[in-house]
Amino acid sequence: MNTDVRSQAEALGLPLREESRDRLQIREIPPQGLVLRIRRDPSAIAGDLGLSTAVEAWFLLFRMGVEVSVRFEGTCGLRVCCSRCLEGVDLSLTFGSRVTFLPIAAEVDPERELMADDLGVAFYRNPEIPLLEMVREEILLLVPMQPLCTPLCQGLCSKCGRRLGRAACECRDADIDPRWKDLQSLLESGTLSPRSS
Ligand SMILES: [Zn+2]
Ligand SMILES: [Zn+2]
Repeated sequence: MNTDVRSQAEALGLPLREESRDRLQIREIPPQGLVLRIRRDPSAIAGDLGLSTAVEAWFLLFRMGVEVSVRFEGTCGLRVCCSRCLEGVDLSLTFGSRVTFLPIAAEVDPERELMADDLGVAFYRNPEIPLLEMVREEILLLVPMQPLCTPLCQGLCSKCGRRLGRAACECRDADIDPRWKDLQSLLESGTLSPRSS
């Protein structure tokens, strides 16, 4: 999802603030809104997500009483292993989301309960927005479960361990199922054509 935080912030004439803290106090959000940018090295993000570049994210925050609306978007690089051939794969991720924060007490309000069913509503106990945690969760959602170096990756040869389709590997030819041996000799002798029906 592209929330296009930057162009919206620009259209609203909101100044950009570099934020070095991981959490923002809700009372810090001025009536006209707030634009933040955070930039973190991979080591600053909890858990081993396989980040290969710094994470950069932009936030647009508005406060209406106790309710805070947050839009954010960002980019990062990821280094993962192909699930078939184990080769390293560099991915470039773009993430983004919008979340409405409500105080936890609002959770019991039946009118608010409807909203809680919607995606993108979170409840806060402490009046703060967990900027970095939001980014981390968004990246986690995008880390592929079974990454592939190419969609057609054939994986590794189970005999010699070479990457199939790239390195020369004769294991498969040399290792034919004995039940097919007779058929293969027919093919080789020309008695049988591979395309005959
Ligand atoms: Zn692969
Ligand atoms: Zn092989």
